[in-house]
Amino acid sequence: MQELENLTKELLKKEGTLDELKEVLRFHEYRYYVLNDTMISDEEYDRLFKKLEKIENENPSLITPDSPTQRVGNSLNADFVTVPHLVSMLSLENSYNPDDLIAWDNRLNTLADHQKVSFSAEPKYDGASISLIYENDLLVRGATRGDGIAGDDITTNIRQIGSIPLSAKFSAYGIEKIEIRGEILLNKENFKKYNESLAEDGLAPLANPRNAAAGSLRMKDPASVRKRKLEAILYHVSFIQLNKKGQEKYPELLNTHSGILQILSDCGFRTPVRQMEVFTQIEAVVNFCLEFETKRDELPYEIDGMVVKVNEIEIQQQVGSTTHHPRWAIAYKFKARQSTSKLLNVEFQVGRTGSITPVAKIEPVPIGGVTVSSVSLFNEGIIEEKDLRIGDTVIVERAGDVIPYIVKPLTELRTGKEVKIIFPVKCPVCGDPLIKPEGEAVWRCVNINCEAQVVERIIHFVSKDAMDMKTFGEANVRKFYAEKIIHDIPSVYSIDYSRIAGLEGFKQKSIDNLRSAVENSRKQNLNRLIYGLGIRYVGETTAKTLAKAVDTVFDLKNFSIEDLQQLKDIGGKVAESVFSFFHNDDNLRMLEKLADKGVNVKGDKTEPVSGKFSGLTFLFTGTMPTLKRSAAEKMAEEHGGKLLSSVSSNLNFLVVGESAGSKLDKAKKIKTIKIINEEDFLNMIQS
Ligand SMILES: [Zn+2]
Repeated sequence: MQELENLTKELLKKEGTLDELKEVLRFHEYRYYVLNDTMISDEEYDRLFKKLEKIENENPSLITPDSPTQRVGNSLNADFVTVPHLVSMLSLENSYNPDDLIAWDNRLNTLADHQKVSFSAEPKYDGASISLIYENDLLVRGATRGDGIAGDDITTNIRQIGSIPLSAKFSAYGIEKIEIRGEILLNKENFKKYNESLAEDGLAPLANPRNAAAGSLRMKDPASVRKRKLEAILYHVSFIQLNKKGQEKYPELLNTHSGILQILSDCGFRTPVRQMEVFTQIEAVVNFCLEFETKRDELPYEIDGMVVKVNEIEIQQQVGSTTHHPRWAIAYKFKARQSTSKLLNVEFQVGRTGSITPVAKIEPVPIGGVTVSSVSLFNEGIIEEKDLRIGDTVIVERAGDVIPYIVKPLTELRTGKEVKIIFPVKCPVCGDPLIKPEGEAVWRCVNINCEAQVVERIIHFVSKDAMDMKTFGEANVRKFYAEKIIHDIPSVYSIDYSRIAGLEGFKQKSIDNLRSAVENSRKQNLNRLIYGLGIRYVGETTAKTLAKAVDTVFDLKNFSIEDLQQLKDIGGKVAESVFSFFHNDDNLRMLEKLADKGVNVKGDKTEPVSGKFSGLTFLFTGTMPTLKRSAAEKMAEEHGGKLLSSVSSNLNFLVVGESAGSKLDKAKKIKTIKIINEEDFLNMIQS
C-alpha cells in the first residue's frame, strides 16, 4: 500500500508505464468506492486516468479486459445485501475548462452524424449517489451506487428521507416500472449543525456534506438516518417500462432529458428542473457553467460543478457509452477547494470560556479564492485521531461556508523529521494548570482572570450580535487592552478618549464614532446584555428567553436550576451554567458596575397582570372615536387582557372602530366572539 502511495506521487509528476498506471488507478478506485477514504483529489485521479487512456488510445492492442478504463470496479462493502442495478451506474467524464467542453461537443458532433443536438446543463450536487426503483407507483428499492453494477440495498434508510415519496403517480404516465438516479445531500446549514454537534461531543468534524450523507445512508439505525435531515435530488431515469397506455400516449414526454425531469418533478420528486437550462449551442453552455461557478455559494447545497447532457434521448442512445462513462454527458468541474500544504506549527488559543483550541499554522495556500494559513484543529482528540505532526504535508479543504479543515496528513510523505504535537498542561497565557472536565473533549483554563479570557470576553461583549458597538471590533479591543485603556467589560464605559486620540491611526471622526457606539449601547435590550456576558451555552435564543423572564437582570440571582429549566428550551446543562454564573460574586459585581454606568438591565418581562381582563383576549380594529389604537391596547393589557393579532376562535372581544374591515367580517362568522365598540370597552373597565 505504501509503495502504491509513493508511486501515485511519482506518476502525478512524470509519465508512467501502462502497468504502473493501471495498478495505481485500481488502488484509488478501491480507496474511493470501497473504503470511502480518498487520498488523492478527483482531479488528480482524472489526470492519472487520462494518462492511461492516452497510452491505450495510441496502442489499442495493449487494452486488456481488466484495465480500469474497461470496467467499473467490482468490490463491495459486505455489510448490506448487494443488489444489482437494472442499468449500470456509470460515472461521468470530467472536464475542467471551456476547451474540454468544446472538444466534447466536437466529438459528439461526429458521433451523432452532425444531427442537431441540444444540451441540458444543471448543477452537479456533491452528495452520495443512489438508485431508486418504483414498481406500480410504489418505492420498492433504494440502493447505493456501489461499484456501479451492484449496490447496497438501503431501502429502509431511503424510506427515512422525507423528500423521497414512498409512492408516486407514475401510472398516470403509463409507467409500470422505473429506475431513477439521484443524490442524497445534506444542505449546508444542516451540515454545519451536524459538524457543530460532532465538535461539541469532541468528535472530528466531517470534511464535506458528501461524506456526511454517505455515512448516514449506511447507518444501521433508520431513526438516526431520519435525524440527519438528508435530502434527495433526483436527476436521471436509467430504465423505464411502459404499459400499453404509456406506449401510445406519452412517448413525447420521454423524448428529452428535460421532459423526463419534468415528469419526475410532477411525480413529487425534488429535481434540478428549476436550476436546469437547455441550450442549442455549446458556447452558451460554457457561459452558463462559468456564471454558475460564481454563484455556487448561493445554493443551499454544496455543488462541485455542472452536468451537461445531450437533451435528446434518441441521440443519447445513438452515441452510447464507453465501459466507463456515457458519451452523451460530461461533468464540468469547478475549481477544487482542496489543496495540500505543510503543517508549520500549532498554536494554542484561549477562548472566552477558557477553552483551549489548537490552531494549525500552515504554509499559506489558496483554496477556492481564499488564502488559508490558519486552520482550527478543534481539540486534542482530533490531533491524536489524525496523528498530525508538525512538518506533515496535509490535505486542507474549504467547502463553501464551512471553515477550513485538515482532512488528513499524507503520512507517506513523512521524512522522519516530523515532530509530535504536544498539548500544553498549562494555560499558554496565564500559566494556570489546564483542566479537562470528565466527559468533555476540551481542555480549559479555569482562571476567570486569565488575560486571554478577559480580552476574548470584551471582544464578544462589544460584538455585533451582543452590544453591537460599531467600529469597536476585535483589533481595537486588543489595542486598548494592551494600552491599558480598558481592562474589563465595565471599563468599556469609562474610556478616557483623550488617550485614544494619542494613539496612532485615530482621527477625531473615528473617536466620535466609537464614543457614540459605546453610548448608544447603554440602551440595548437586556437580551443583548445577557448574550454579551458570554455565559457558557447561552446563545442569542436563550438570552432572549432569560431577558423575557425577569424584571431586571439581577432577578436571575433568585432562579434555582429547576426554575431555569421551567423556561422555554432551557435544558440541564444550560441551567447549571446560568445558575453558577449568577452565583459568582465577581460576575454580580460586574453587573452592578454596568448598571451604575447606565447600561440597561431592565428585562422584557410581560407579567400576566391580574385584573378584570385576566384570561380574556382582545383585538382592536378600525379607528376609534377617542382612543388611539396603541393606548387602547395598553389599557387592555394593564387590566390583564391579552392581545391577539388576528381573528380566531381564541378571540373573546373584537373592539370595532370606524371603517373596520375584513377582521369584522371574519369575527361575525365566529359565534363566540363578542363584537363591541370603544364605549363598551371603556364601560367594561369602569364597571
Ligand atoms: Zn489562562
